[in-house]
Amino acid sequence: IYILMVEKNKWENAVTYDTLTTILNRGVFMQNLKKEIERAQRYKIPLSYIMFDLDHFKNINDTFGHPTGDVVLSKMCENIKQIMRTSDYFGRLGGEEFGIILPETNITSAIQMAERIRKTIEDLYIQDGLKVTASIGLTALQTGDTLDSLYERADKASYMSKAERNKVSII
Ligand code: GH3
Ligand code: MG
Ligand code: MG
Repeated sequence: IYILMVEKNKWENAVTYDTLTTILNRGVFMQNLKKEIERAQRYKIPLSYIMFDLDHFKNINDTFGHPTGDVVLSKMCENIKQIMRTSDYFGRLGGEEFGIILPETNITSAIQMAERIRKTIEDLYIQDGLKVTASIGLTALQTGDTLDSLYERADKASYMSKAERNKVSII
């Protein structure tokens, strides 16, 4: 029975967490986003959403090698997890693209959080000459929002940051 339990937990981990970064995988993250949007709308409490994409990650892989790129992703996630509240959700949306759900967080506090995330990524040290930055998008839940409209706004904000990079854009 004990062995069966261990196996079951291992399997649950694999389907819930991203194996490289150990944060939530896209599917589970999106389920939580949907749930938190519904809760915020029902109880009329704020919710903020952050999305970011690492800058020039292809260059990082090409210059330092794919395994080092993997180290960048896992260490970055480890450092960001340390500045998050336990009620926040951190997920890997795809390759070098990530999302953060900030339940019960208004835009003012969310701006501070997004700025801390930007700084944490900028301060990440892996090896000499390797600089990591991200283009960050931030948005707050608005009346009449759906999961898609919130997600698209954050995506657009993150895309806006790509014009300068290492930047937070708010829509
Ligand atoms: P931009 O600043 O415009 O975002 O440029 P970029 O190079 O980051 O963007 P692009 O989408 O062209 O490249 C993303 C790269 O991320 C390509 C892909 O090989 C790399 N990548 C995706 N997932 C992983 C991963 O798990 N490990 C490593 N090492 N690289 C990954
Ligand atoms: Mg990308
Ligand atoms: Mg990128």
